[in-house]
Amino acid sequence: MIPNVQLNDGTAIPQLGFGTFLVPPEQTAQTVGEALRLGYRHIDTAQGYANEEGVGRAIAESGIPRDEVYVTSKLDNGNHRPDDVRRSFDETLRKLGVERLDLFLIHWPVPMLYDGDYVSTWKAMAELVEGGRLTSVGVSNFEPAHLDRVVGETGVVPAVNQIEAHPYFPNDTARAASHAHGIAVEAWGPLGQGAVLDDPVITKIAEARSRANSQVILRWHIQRGDIVFPKSTHRERMAENLALFDFALSADEVAAIDGLSQGEAGRVGPHPDTFDLH
Ligand code: NAD
Repeated sequence: MIPNVQLNDGTAIPQLGFGTFLVPPEQTAQTVGEALRLGYRHIDTAQGYANEEGVGRAIAESGIPRDEVYVTSKLDNGNHRPDDVRRSFDETLRKLGVERLDLFLIHWPVPMLYDGDYVSTWKAMAELVEGGRLTSVGVSNFEPAHLDRVVGETGVVPAVNQIEAHPYFPNDTARAASHAHGIAVEAWGPLGQGAVLDDPVITKIAEARSRANSQVILRWHIQRGDIVFPKSTHRERMAENLALFDFALSADEVAAIDGLSQGEAGRVGPHPDTFDLH
C-alpha cells in the first residue's frame, strides 16, 4: 500500500513513515507500538529525541521481522567528532536493540562548531556503511553549499537530505540542490508542525473532497515525490495520516497549495547556517 522511494545506493525506503520528535520517552514504546499496529513500517527517530529505547522496545514487542521495519536515527550535534560518531552509533544500535540500522543522518551541519569540519563527520558516517551495521547514510538540514562540500571533498553522495518543507516553506532551493546530486528529499515538519493545518485553502480542498486537512497537505508532499513521516500521538490522527493512497489531488489543487508559499518567512524551524544547539 505504501510505495517505496529508490535511493541512490540501490536501496529503497517507504515514502511514508512515522515521526517521533517530541514523543516523550516514557510514552514512545506505546505510541510507536500503536503506529506499527496501524501499519506504519518506517520510524524516524534521533539521538537528540531521547526516545530511541522506546522505539526499539516497540519494534521488539511488535513481533514484526526486523527487515520489515525501516528505522532512521540521527547523529546529535554534540557528536560530530569522528570518535564520537563511532561511539554514539554503537549506543544508538544498543538503545534501539538492533544489529543494523537502515539510515543514519547528520542531524544538522552546525558549521559554526568543530571548525566547520562536518566533512570529517561525514567520512566517519560513510565508514559505518562499510562496516556492515548501517545500510544507508545521509544528512539533514544541509543547505546547497553543505551538500556541495561533502560531495566535493569525499565523493560520497548522501542517500537523503532531510529538510524542513511544507506548503508555507517548500524549501525549493535545498530541494533542487539535493535532486541535482541525486539525493532523495525527506520533508520534516510536513504539516508545518501544525501551522499549515487550518489554512483556508487547505480547508476548502479538504471539504470538497471530504478529507482531513492533514491528508490534503500530506498528499501534496507525496505527489511531489518527497518522503514524509508526520507525527501524532493520537490514534485516529495516526490512522488518518496513513490513508493517503486512495485519492490524488488535481493539478489545480496542487497549484493552489503551491501558491501558499511564503518563502523564507514560512520557515517554522531554525536556519541550518546558524542553528548550533548541542
Ligand atoms: P509535523 O509537521 O508532522 O506536525 C506535527 C504536529 O501536527 C503534531 O504535534 C500534531 O499536533 C499535529 N498533527 C499531526 N497529525 C495531525 C492530524 N491528522 N490532524 C491534526 N493535527 C495533526 O511536525 P514534526 O513532528 O516536527 O515533523 C515530523 C517528523 O520530522 C518529526 O516527528 C521528526 O521525526 C522529523 N523532524 C526532523 C527534524 C530535523 O531537524 N531533521 C526537525 C523536526 C522534525
